[in-house]
Amino acid sequence: MEKPPLLLHICCAPCSTYVVRTLREHFDVVGYFCNPNIHPEAEYALRLREMKRYAENIGLRMIVAEYEVDRWYEAISGTEQEPEGGKRCAICYRFRLERTARFAQEQGIPNFASTLTVSPHKKAAVINPIGRALAEQTGAAFYEADFKKRDGFKISCRMSREAGLYRQDYCGCIFSKQERERRIKGKG
Ligand code: SF4
Repeated sequence: MEKPPLLLHICCAPCSTYVVRTLREHFDVVGYFCNPNIHPEAEYALRLREMKRYAENIGLRMIVAEYEVDRWYEAISGTEQEPEGGKRCAICYRFRLERTARFAQEQGIPNFASTLTVSPHKKAAVINPIGRALAEQTGAAFYEADFKKRDGFKISCRMSREAGLYRQDYCGCIFSKQERERRIKGKG
């Protein structure tokens, strides 16, 4: 029986490993790399290159969204100083999920999802309601999940190690990079 198509927002290659494998049990998964939050551009290029390499290895069809940096900064304006996990992140999730849902709608893909909840730093209780609201607006069904559960994060780490994937040490935006650098300095 043919599996229904699903457009998967992918934040990076390591997070995609376990999530793609899990979703493929029920869906015909198409990857959607939509991450204008990633700073600097060289880091964006590196994460995208790793994702393309991994997608090729596992035979995953991938679509790359526009790198809309200016729009992203506009969207998060006023929340720059929020800590990771705060208001800025909710806007950032919505920014990326909204583009995924709209693209699914345009392309007639009936389902969409995101890799985001596989990270222990990202709350499903924040991400799933955003997906649900976008599903109502677009008509594409949102696959609700908390992929970190049932050892999802641990398995994704193992799978990315086995695939030799680059794993970044900060979430993505300039503010998370600075926060990370401050933490390292504080320890030194
Ligand atoms: S910390 Fe991560 S989720 Fe939060 S705004 Fe920055 S890139 Fe987006």
